[in-house]
Amino acid sequence: MISSGNDRDLFNIPKVELHCHLELAYRLATMKAWAIEDGDLPEGCSDEEFKAKYMVLSPMNDLPTVLQKFLVTRDRIKSLERIERLTFEACEDMYLISNVRILELRYAPSFVLEVYPELGADRMHEAIMRGCARAEVKYPIAVGIICLLQRIKSVTENEYWADFAIERKGEILGIDLADDEVNYPPEPFTHIFQKAKSAGLGITVHAGEPNDPNASNNILTSIEMLGADRIGHGVQAIMDLKVIEVLRESKIPLELCPTSNVLTKAVDSADKHPIKRLFDLGVRTTLNSDDPGVMGITLMTEYEIAHNILGMTLNELEKCNQWAMEASFICKEKKAVVWPV
Ligand SMILES: [Zn+2]
Repeated sequence: MISSGNDRDLFNIPKVELHCHLELAYRLATMKAWAIEDGDLPEGCSDEEFKAKYMVLSPMNDLPTVLQKFLVTRDRIKSLERIERLTFEACEDMYLISNVRILELRYAPSFVLEVYPELGADRMHEAIMRGCARAEVKYPIAVGIICLLQRIKSVTENEYWADFAIERKGEILGIDLADDEVNYPPEPFTHIFQKAKSAGLGITVHAGEPNDPNASNNILTSIEMLGADRIGHGVQAIMDLKVIEVLRESKIPLELCPTSNVLTKAVDSADKHPIKRLFDLGVRTTLNSDDPGVMGITLMTEYEIAHNILGMTLNELEKCNQWAMEASFICKEKKAVVWPV
């Protein structure tokens, strides 16, 4: 059990969240209200009915079921007002519930626009920026945006979105590559990431996430070919001493997300998560929530796992946040305003 004093100590750590998918970072009450408003759930439906249709709360047995939940969520994000509200509330909850001071949110323009092209990429982006700006005025939090490329889409389409990000450098701080890394390895996207890196964008790549024999090798490819500054997940690094050595030497941090790794069966259970072992091996580990809305967690949940189940001390968790702060793509000046020294 978690004592309230223990909880308060964990809350009091000023936090950095580097890996959070905006589309899946909704507040339950808001998404449920939208589902009812759109006629996707009946008036007066219970939270349990909402959870059954929208949330992933136990380890997944098959990918299509999980994807379906991502898709119904995405289908609710159909207006600029909703996008702005989703963004603001994601920021607000990060600050109020988890004491996050530095927050990076990532979104895939291609994901929402494939069903609602009429929103327009520029207007959608501006709505997100408005949501971030409102949170930054109201709370001592610095928010940055990452543009996510979907590896299941064509190289040509991803070239387009990378250029979209490069043109908005300053508002968009970096690019990411996500989705199924087993069937869509990173190599074909190398030139896109090299171009974005040359243009001054930060690079983070989902790699080494699933429990697959080749997954850890994707970490090396992402670093050596795509120029990754950070690795999304990278949890399978624990399977490969060579990868651990590269991460330790390069000081490239892993954006680890324990609950997500359990729900996708990347690791067997929370008590088997390797974040503490990776930390002890000298890898720069950071703690993140991935998809807090759809997975029914907050960043605090991940700290409770790390501290109460895996035995990471408060000092170790502060060290992770120091690394995360240094690795954040948000500019130094903006970080300094919100980060306690
Ligand atoms: Zn992710």
